[in-house]
Amino acid sequence: MKVLLHEMSWVEAKKYFMENDIAILPVGSNEQHGPQNPLGTDHFIAKAIAEEAAKRSGVLCLQVIPFGVSSHHRQFWGTIHISPKTFKGYVKETCLALNYYGVKKVVIVNGHGGNLNALAELARELREKGIFVSIFQWWPAASKLLPDLFKPEERRHACAEETSLNLTLHSKIVDMSKAVDEKPRKHALQEEGITLPLDTVDYTSSGVFGVSSTASVEKGKAVFEAVVNELVKHIAAFKKAKIEDLMQKKKV
Ligand SMILES: [Zn+2]
Repeated sequence: MKVLLHEMSWVEAKKYFMENDIAILPVGSNEQHGPQNPLGTDHFIAKAIAEEAAKRSGVLCLQVIPFGVSSHHRQFWGTIHISPKTFKGYVKETCLALNYYGVKKVVIVNGHGGNLNALAELARELREKGIFVSIFQWWPAASKLLPDLFKPEERRHACAEETSLNLTLHSKIVDMSKAVDEKPRKHALQEEGITLPLDTVDYTSSGVFGVSSTASVEKGKAVFEAVVNELVKHIAAFKKAKIEDLMQKKKV
């Protein structure tokens, strides 16, 4: 059975939408991930996790939205940054297009932390329109499921965990000979409880936020399996949930 919308004909899509009210939408970014990883890391990973979970659960999956909220990485070449407003609007219209065919439940598989605020705001807006959106992010799921697989300094942006996933999914476009370990710099004003408008380049010269050289295909496989299983479980629960129970409650 086909699950990728962009591979279906309209006749096949009609059959799916007549029988189902749920869809998966992967979103990511195109931004620097250190000297060893491809710029597409965040959208490649979101797409791979979403499509595998879609196959295992029989739920329709859309093409990945590749550009996201990444202006904090822009000093590193090739980063394509979209404003939160435009990103949110694009994802919203995509969800509304699905809703035209009866979709009321959308699982957004987000590959880039910088997108989260815009997505969370959007999810609240869409709930008012009768569409319930859940947002799945692989890295908190991986930390929960495999707490001992990586040290904290291996779990950050462009570090060993993310690099391992890249090695598992598409090793040919990762160059481990360029992998570096760099301790992020601390800004003079940085303290617990203070938020500053800093960019990635304020913290690191390579784009890596910690240790990336310990990445491996095996570790990447373990992460991929664990997070896909977790997503499949979430999709199963979401499918079962009654849409009436997910909608906004009336005032008390
Ligand atoms: Zn990333």
